[in-house]
Amino acid sequence: MDKIRYINLDPISRIYVELGGDKKKEVVYNGETWTYDYPLGRPSHMSNGEELERNDGSGIVDIKRTVIYFNHKLKKPKLGTFKTWYHKDPYTGWINHGTWNEFLIDEYWNKTITKKTEWKHNKIVGTQEKYCEKCLQLIFIGSWDLGIPIGVHKNFVCFRGGTYLQKQTKYHSGYDNYEVIRFFPYSESDHRGKIEEKCEYHGYMTGKCTNYNTDGSVRKVTDFKEGKYHGSHFYYYKDGRKLEGQYEHDEKVGYWTTYSKDGTILEKRSY
Ligand SMILES: [Zn+2]
Repeated sequence: MDKIRYINLDPISRIYVELGGDKKKEVVYNGETWTYDYPLGRPSHMSNGEELERNDGSGIVDIKRTVIYFNHKLKKPKLGTFKTWYHKDPYTGWINHGTWNEFLIDEYWNKTITKKTEWKHNKIVGTQEKYCEKCLQLIFIGSWDLGIPIGVHKNFVCFRGGTYLQKQTKYHSGYDNYEVIRFFPYSESDHRGKIEEKCEYHGYMTGKCTNYNTDGSVRKVTDFKEGKYHGSHFYYYKDGRKLEGQYEHDEKVGYWTTYSKDGTILEKRSY
């Protein structure tokens, strides 16, 4: 095991340790042992953690692990994760439990948390926040109650120093009843805040979506089931024509009919 002292080493070489041939290497920094992994002959990440069996006779083992990933070009640490789990004895899989963090980290070990998730026995609880790794602005906020999403979840996109709302999900009753609104990309200034798609779900990825044109008119209305087109499908052309048909598990079925602006049948195709 190699011991490296902070003081005599420059910030790069003390963290980004290159080795020829080895797959793993243990290095001690200020009393902490870090394992370096070299899957492709160069350091991919370093990790440090502990496994502790609870002394209450439950046989439960608590695990903590920090992983720091490197930027190969700069030979510096880039980002890291801190996670906590436990597993039972006999082992039946890891159970996420505690606070998980994702962070940016520099060669001086300064950490900036970019994502925080709270777990309780494998279920997300509380409010999760996510920040952009480049500009550190908030890009996601949402809450959970024992794994069930609650309230309003918001996704933002960074744009020219600010952020704009990209997606908003309102949970009325977890994945049994929720609505998702997506907004047009912000880059085109005349589309700011305009709704591109609005979906009502009753069951995960099962429900009805309405898509809009930038002028606010309806472009299409589609039914979904478990993420696939399933049910009726309407498409409204800009010239007033309308296409109507049915899907079953992503496949067109029955008659697909195109109507003119005044409702006359223009085309009818069988699937
Ligand atoms: Zn950003």
